[in-house]
Amino acid sequence: MKTNYHTHTTWCDGKDSPETVVLAAIEKGFGAIGFSSHAMLPEDDTSWVLTPEKVPRYAAEIRALAKKYEGRIRILCGVEADYVPGGATPDRRAYAAISPDYIIGSVHFVVAPDGARVCVDESPESLEDGIRRHFGGDAEAYLHAYFAQVREMLLSCDFDVVGHLDLVRKFNTRHPYFDETAPWYLAELDRTADAVSASGKIAEVNTGAISRGWLDDAYPSAAFRDRLRARGVKFILSADAHAADAIDCAFDRFGDCEVFLPSPLTPGRTINACA
Ligand SMILES: [Zn+2]
Ligand SMILES: [Zn+2]
Repeated sequence: MKTNYHTHTTWCDGKDSPETVVLAAIEKGFGAIGFSSHAMLPEDDTSWVLTPEKVPRYAAEIRALAKKYEGRIRILCGVEADYVPGGATPDRRAYAAISPDYIIGSVHFVVAPDGARVCVDESPESLEDGIRRHFGGDAEAYLHAYFAQVREMLLSCDFDVVGHLDLVRKFNTRHPYFDETAPWYLAELDRTADAVSASGKIAEVNTGAISRGWLDDAYPSAAFRDRLRARGVKFILSADAHAADAIDCAFDRFGDCEVFLPSPLTPGRTINACA
């Protein structure tokens, strides 16, 4: 069964409405589609996320679509919630009002020692500027801080799926700024894979950087996937789609991952293992 649980729409920074995405998913023969709007950042970053006020209206629209298309496709209501220490948590308690079917926990902002938030994936220019201004130009220090924050999220928050574990690779092919084979970097992957395993959470194989032309590979890298697999971590295949036509981008290239339905009602229940 074709599925994708990482989908953005006009409720956040996606291009298409939820219903347009549902119709595309039916057209492509999907058995289920899950929505995961960006959610609840600290107040000054809310232009592209669900604010607390929007969360219930978003959930109501997705639940109404689930009813409308019942029998044709299964529609799930999730969120992609940010972890910003002191500002936002991907935690079930924070979203209790809408009882999401699942929560994807993601780090898009690294908190620097001076308290500033450096955006991981906005643009190569803003990342370079953020590392220069808030990490003294030390990319390695920034990367250590990123992975430490991911591990803190994994071990302190109640969510289901960890989003794009090595989002820091996004610009590293077209605008290289660190060596992905450096021993200190591989040691970060080992430590983080240990944390994913200890948390019992599901890791994404996320093709979003392929559909947007930044990488010819998924997150996490093959080296990272091997480390996760060796520790028994389960994967879910995600498009991180920001448009209806991207909901299965490059899925044929990463079909060897197990797909889980992350739901509080059916925790870790396998619904499909792609051939
Ligand atoms: Zn994300
Ligand atoms: Zn996303």
